[in-house]
Amino acid sequence: MHNNNYITAAQVLGQTETHLHHVSERVAIHKNMINAFDAMVNSAKSDGIELRIASGFRSFNRQLMLWNNKFSGKTPIKNMAGDLVSPENLSPFELVHSILLYSALPGASRHHWGCDIDVYAPNLLSEDYQLKLEPWEYSEQGPLAKLSDWLIAHAHKFGFFFPYASFQGGVANEPWHLSYLPLAQDYQQAFDIKVLTEALNSSNIQGKDVIVENIEDIAKRYINNVCIAPSNVILPK
Ligand SMILES: [Zn+2]
Repeated sequence: MHNNNYITAAQVLGQTETHLHHVSERVAIHKNMINAFDAMVNSAKSDGIELRIASGFRSFNRQLMLWNNKFSGKTPIKNMAGDLVSPENLSPFELVHSILLYSALPGASRHHWGCDIDVYAPNLLSEDYQLKLEPWEYSEQGPLAKLSDWLIAHAHKFGFFFPYASFQGGVANEPWHLSYLPLAQDYQQAFDIKVLTEALNSSNIQGKDVIVENIEDIAKRYINNVCIAPSNVILPK
């Protein structure tokens, strides 16, 4: 079995930043992913694509804020068709599930690890374009189709795969979300549902009772239910 002793519970939960390297003021990624990421960026550049990170590392507290804003109706919740969901018509249980389609629980986001990134290509967008990270933007008719095609053809050569390549009844399809397999497989293995439950219990997350009561099912459906990395993903030596 591969050794993942270098991973701490705080890293899995997004409660430390010691494993990170800042690529810009607001974007940080895992230190041990820098070379692979740079190689991918350079390769994309030679094909006319300016590969950039929209979202890299995200902390527990940031994810908590995003979650609570959705739960309280401060920020809109969308379904997979892109339509707005009205929180006031939902039970707390239904509300939790509609948020989980696009937003992970704090403590259970792959963005805590630093080895998962949401990418886009500013040179394919007009200057005033507001990126939404919605599937249509990356579809054949979308402005980022060229990026999407490129990632599908080449990302695996640099160790990356799509954990949300297709909808499997949990998290929606996210063609922008890349995961660096050599690290991600270790973090995934280090994930511990008891540690997550403790972190949620000591937080001020909204919907806590419903979440904790259903944590096993949530983990099965949204956290562990990711697409398997294809066998052509090339791991660096
Ligand atoms: Zn993402």
